[in-house]
Amino acid sequence: MSHHSIGRRKFLKTAVAGTTAAALGAAARDAFAFPAKPALEAGLGSAPAPAAGLPANILGKTGQRVPRLLLGTAMDFDMRLLKTAYEQGVTYFDTADCYGGGRSELTIGNFLEKTGLRKNIWLTTKSCPQDPRAMENSLKTSLGRLKTDYVDLFFLHNLSRMEALDGEMRQTVDRLKREGRIRFFGFSTHSPNVAEALEHASKLGWIEAIMFKYNFRAYGDSELNRAMDAAKRASIGLIAMKTQGSAFSFQNKVDAFQVKGFQKHPAVLKAVWEDQRIDAAVSEMKNVQQLDQNVGAAKDLTKLGALELDELRRYAQETSASYCRGCNHVCTAGLPRPVAVADTLRFLMYHDEYGELERARRLFRELPAPLREFHASELEAAARACPHGLDVASLVTRAKKVLG
Ligand code: SF4
Repeated sequence: MSHHSIGRRKFLKTAVAGTTAAALGAAARDAFAFPAKPALEAGLGSAPAPAAGLPANILGKTGQRVPRLLLGTAMDFDMRLLKTAYEQGVTYFDTADCYGGGRSELTIGNFLEKTGLRKNIWLTTKSCPQDPRAMENSLKTSLGRLKTDYVDLFFLHNLSRMEALDGEMRQTVDRLKREGRIRFFGFSTHSPNVAEALEHASKLGWIEAIMFKYNFRAYGDSELNRAMDAAKRASIGLIAMKTQGSAFSFQNKVDAFQVKGFQKHPAVLKAVWEDQRIDAAVSEMKNVQQLDQNVGAAKDLTKLGALELDELRRYAQETSASYCRGCNHVCTAGLPRPVAVADTLRFLMYHDEYGELERARRLFRELPAPLREFHASELEAAARACPHGLDVASLVTRAKKVLG
């Protein structure tokens, strides 16, 4: 190693020590000399090369710039994917305490330790427990697995009850910030009451970012649009997830579109980014091919053309009755007991569209037994109640067969 590179590394280490990960500019990242040996020992091949910058946005009131494409890590992955993502400029990793039963955080932690890239990565994790004390315990476990003493953004995972933000939550969050264990705080939500969650957070004033389900199928939703406007006025950073709007068993339909030159995966991401209220979109990119495709879309600042928009609209229409919106309360409202239609269909979608058989089966098995034991009369009633025409009975029956 030359004196020059040692000097440069020392200089950068000193510079990094006095700043935050997100405040590292592209120039500093480009000049960073990566520690080659640990990466090689980790079986990562060559050391990660300096990241090329992706288009970035300010994440709401955090005031920090983040790339507009984030790596979601709920799927099975290894350190090589993280390395490739980093090299492609995807410098934001999103994880959660429950992803892969903790394996996601462990893999990210091993990567950060082996490569020494902690300060170059924006790290978000989430807590499934939602009372302040259990949340703090979850954070402690996450920091241990991630081999770091802080995360950039900490979310309550899949918030559905707004009361979770009451009581001691705010004081706990403020203290965790003072202790340097989290920099910013917010929540994620898959919940059908996402509009209510956004409105509520807008009034609280201390929620800094929200990750929520948003894709091309939601454009006409006026309630959601009003809530997104309110969140934007409150300077909350908005991160879109479930951007693919995937339907069941529809790969043949996607393939048919792609034959005509329409690439569904990048097109739906671009459709989300064209909404100026969205700061970033998270995507689970299972392999290098998907990563390349999505990074290409993130770098491409041209707008969707008329042909792509037409195809997207047609795809949305043709798959509408195969896409579950997650509004479990709607189709189960008339039933005498709770059952998990929406979760079951979400796991079927993981199975059919994402090809994540093991994860889909595990999640289905983790549902409390009474919620996944459907009587025929309940399925028929749910199908009648679904305003989107989903054939709930046959979909749930198939889900039980492939996931049970
Ligand atoms: S089946 Fe229909 S009503 Fe039930 S959650 Fe899915 S989209 Fe909503």
